[in-house]
Amino acid sequence: MAYVYDDQNIFARILRGEIPNKTVLETEHSLAFHDIGPQAPCHVLVIPRGAYVSYDHFTAEASDAEILDFSRAVGEVCRMMEVSPAGTGQGYRLISNTGDHGHQEVPHLHVHVLGGRSLGRMLE
Ligand code: C5P
Repeated sequence: MAYVYDDQNIFARILRGEIPNKTVLETEHSLAFHDIGPQAPCHVLVIPRGAYVSYDHFTAEASDAEILDFSRAVGEVCRMMEVSPAGTGQGYRLISNTGDHGHQEVPHLHVHVLGGRSLGRMLE
């Protein structure tokens, strides 16, 4: 099945400036902003500017420059939000909910950066 992107999804509208967001980081190919319903003291979403539904879609079709930019943006957000244990933080979790089984609500690739509290064990 081909990847189908809905350009009316809420993150597409944020990228077009139609809906406000609390921006953390802007790069050439990526945007990071605070989640509207934070589940932890640090809850930032990192999204590529391109029209990709999922991580597998992104890595299949994006340019190397987009993939590098996005990967670097995720790491930069961890440092900026001071959740990196290499700095003053105590760690974080990256999540990218995908599709029905992943309970993805917004069909534009996003990575949740969660931290600032103990997040519990996820996989037993
Ligand atoms: O389940 P999924 O990873 O798709 O969740 C989408 C996230 O987008 C939710 O955590 C929700 O709070 C967030 N969101 C947001 N701003 C919006 C709409 C949704 O931060 N305007």
